[in-house]
Amino acid sequence: MKEFQLIENFFSGRGPLRRDVLLGIGDDCAVVQPAANKSLAISVDTLVEGVHFFPNMPADALGYKALAVNLSDLASMGAEPSWFTLALTLPQADELWLRRFSEGLLEAADYYGIALIGGDTTRGPKSITITVNGQLPEGKALTRRGAKAGDWIYVTGTLGDSALGLQLLQGKQQARPEHREFLIGRHYRPTPRVLAGQCLRGLASSAIDLSDGLMSDIAHVLKASGVGAVIKVENLPLSQAMRDTVSAELALSLALTGGEDYELLFTVPEAQKGALETSLSQSGVKFVRIGQVCAGSQLKLLRDGEPFTPEFLGFEHF
Ligand code: ADP
Ligand code: MG
Repeated sequence: MKEFQLIENFFSGRGPLRRDVLLGIGDDCAVVQPAANKSLAISVDTLVEGVHFFPNMPADALGYKALAVNLSDLASMGAEPSWFTLALTLPQADELWLRRFSEGLLEAADYYGIALIGGDTTRGPKSITITVNGQLPEGKALTRRGAKAGDWIYVTGTLGDSALGLQLLQGKQQARPEHREFLIGRHYRPTPRVLAGQCLRGLASSAIDLSDGLMSDIAHVLKASGVGAVIKVENLPLSQAMRDTVSAELALSLALTGGEDYELLFTVPEAQKGALETSLSQSGVKFVRIGQVCAGSQLKLLRDGEPFTPEFLGFEHF
């Protein structure tokens, strides 16, 4: 299969149609029309086989996840997904793999209304690079920078599920079938909190998506904002599957250090708390308050008022 044939078969003319795509796949560049008074939010992520995903990862999950992790970056800025490009490097043109990969990719694209407008296809060790473009009202981007002492800290969803899903895949833990399916699903098909991110605009003082684990990601916010934080670990949201599968100690460790949850962590000034809770309720996403920003630069963990250190550390994601 030639490159143009591959593009034609699997990528051209698929995914959502957007009127703001003036020229899509097929020319030297795509041409798009940003809306009036909107800023662009742009992010790129590469997934390399053997580094970011196992060679046996189902191709549809890989396609889905490759886009989802990029959408999560748009979500954390409060941007609406608009357009993306796909740079695909493959050792060979495996048609079955390509069909499944493109199905997973375009399932996510359709769901979030983001159009595939171009890319590049090369031969080499398998890797996937996606660049997403999103739009947001001028000056309304959520950043890591705005957290102030006294702001409340929230997270969406539940934490640690993806890391536990990975441990199940690696045979390091065992779970009941329905829990296994849920947890592996959280690892293979994370849910970028795109709507929630937009609901935070103008209300949250800072936001970040949780890709490397709560403790390591919140550290970016604290550093960028020049503040410290107190987290009450008994408030960390844990799924039923997590609670039923591992000890409370391991659950807390996974929630604090496990990567790839792609939930949002954000801070909210006291004065915006009510408005934020109302706004975010409309996104249908669960969210919970887990702590408070304070002066200084340290992250303090408390469990029922006592200093807490996670028992298990170093859950490096694959
Ligand atoms: P060029 O030689 O100008 O780089 P290519 O032959 O690489 O052009 O690509 C032809 C068209 O197909 C371009 O519009 C490009 O954006 C698109 N394209 C190439 N690879 C992909 C891909 N993996 N997914 C989507 N579009 C692609
Ligand atoms: Mg090219």
